[in-house]
Amino acid sequence: MCGIVGYIGKKQAAPVLLDGLEKLEYRGYDSAGMAVYDGKQINIKKATGRLKVLNELTHGGELLPGTVGIGHTRWATHGEPSDVNAHPHFNADRTIAVVHNGIIENYLKLKNTLIERGYKFLSETDTEVVAHLLDYYYKKCKNPLEAITKVMHRVEGSYALGILFSDEPDVVYSVRKDSPLIVGKGKDGNLIASDVPAVLKYTREVYFIENEEIARLSEDTIEFFNVDGETIEKEPKMIEWDINAAEKGGYEHFMLKEMYEQPKTVRDTLNPRIKDGRIVIDELGMTDEEIRAIKKIHIVACGSAYHTGVTNKYIFEGMARIPVEVDVASEFRYRNPILEEGTLVIIISQSGETADTLAALRLAKERGIMTLGIVNVVGSSIAREADKVMYTWAGPEIAVATTKAYSAQLIAQYLLAIKFAEVRGTISAEQVAGYITDLKKLPDQIEMLLNNKEKIQRFANRYIAAKDVFFIGRGIDYAISLEGSLKLKEISYIHSEAYAAGELKHGTISLIEDGTLVASVVTQPDLYKKTISNIVEVRTRGAFVLAITNEENTEIEKAADYVIYIPQTNPYFTNSLAIIPLQLFGYYVAVGKGCDVDKPRNLAKSVTVE
Ligand code: GLU
Repeated sequence: MCGIVGYIGKKQAAPVLLDGLEKLEYRGYDSAGMAVYDGKQINIKKATGRLKVLNELTHGGELLPGTVGIGHTRWATHGEPSDVNAHPHFNADRTIAVVHNGIIENYLKLKNTLIERGYKFLSETDTEVVAHLLDYYYKKCKNPLEAITKVMHRVEGSYALGILFSDEPDVVYSVRKDSPLIVGKGKDGNLIASDVPAVLKYTREVYFIENEEIARLSEDTIEFFNVDGETIEKEPKMIEWDINAAEKGGYEHFMLKEMYEQPKTVRDTLNPRIKDGRIVIDELGMTDEEIRAIKKIHIVACGSAYHTGVTNKYIFEGMARIPVEVDVASEFRYRNPILEEGTLVIIISQSGETADTLAALRLAKERGIMTLGIVNVVGSSIAREADKVMYTWAGPEIAVATTKAYSAQLIAQYLLAIKFAEVRGTISAEQVAGYITDLKKLPDQIEMLLNNKEKIQRFANRYIAAKDVFFIGRGIDYAISLEGSLKLKEISYIHSEAYAAGELKHGTISLIEDGTLVASVVTQPDLYKKTISNIVEVRTRGAFVLAITNEENTEIEKAADYVIYIPQTNPYFTNSLAIIPLQLFGYYVAVGKGCDVDKPRNLAKSVTVE
């Protein structure tokens, strides 16, 4: 969760840290801080609230002079967001400073032992035990690297750490376990960071740190060690995407920019996998025999990624006739799922670091079940640990509310479903050709919907003061409703719920009052009539009904109050189109309300804690 940046080099560290932390703002945070070595001692400044506060407090970094430093944005897990609990944390002598992302699960036990040894704690955080524990071991061995390895053997949980020792002032240490961390090799210095955008301004040469690896950075060297302190070799990777990908590029918000990138994202995820009119997903390395042997699929994910799984349950079952269970990762991992031979577990995560999803992957692997990760961030934990990996080529997604990564996840699964169905002989060559034709049209169709945004924008402006909104649909339309509802609530803070349309009269309909907005998704021709009946039911009770439907379904104008049409595509793929007006709706309601669209309250981009 949240962010770490570290710098050692020729420049002043604090402005580099502030700039890097800003690039990580999308990850969500409630306070921020920096520690910089000034030639004599380590100085720390930290504050609750936005980076702007830290920026002002340090006069843009000027009040923290020095060329070696670590910075942090905190998303509180242990102890309220406050100045005291903000990172960095010191040992008592102020000779060791630590920033930490993640959770030290055994911190209470460690804290009690340290208190017995005379250590005093200033904050309520789990992180402070790391500072004191480092102090304890460092005093014994007088060797920073050895002290770090000792601490790694004692702490349980997840961590990415940035560490300064004033006794070794020309070095920044860093280490990680189950929390992301990279090292950037720059010309005028080296950096550590939680994610690539923070270092792109200075370098494209990046090392991905693996679990329980330690990095030691000086101005011109980078060394790596394992948990026993032995030297290890690592190869840097060149980052292909450019810095503009991590900038707003003239759009008011990252979310809007990313919505507009969806045609490209869909194309990039689709095109490399269509060759000579066939779907080719060679990177999976799955043989036809393995595909034919699949008896059951579990799709496991969180949030919007989970919604793409709900959609694709209908598609895998419909096309390939493979039974599919879709699970929220935090439920799956604790329900002792029945995973029999012949099961494929598909794990979906934009960041590839989602803690619950990663745990679900590990559980499946422990049981000897084949795992397939659908991941956006190259080299992330899920990408490395899954047996098979399919990347969604969405590029960096900065806004907390996902749009383009969601769209790419849909496409990746459509491709898998068609491939599996073709290999298993449940669809004909003509059907495959038809699906491919429809898929190839999606990018232009998405673009068209985005270009006609004014109609939904005007509509959204009317609902800025809404208290409750309901989303209804059947089948795939239900899955679309789940995502439409999440988009609205996560960024506009308006209460909303998605319901399977047929389920309304079993309870929810009692919530409909005069003027309540019901957004209905009606894109499945064999269910038009059924959902229209539900529209009539809620309208009779006073609801105002927005309908999102296919061009051909003009009948709906008699039932709904306001209609948005999507272009014609195969019913399996309507989610990719119907979601566009729903994303726009959520976005414009949130903008109208003056919400912090890219960084909604209480939310973080990559949820690397349970
Ligand atoms: N668990 C630590 C805290 O609450 C770190 C949270 C974070 O990842 O920022 O301070």
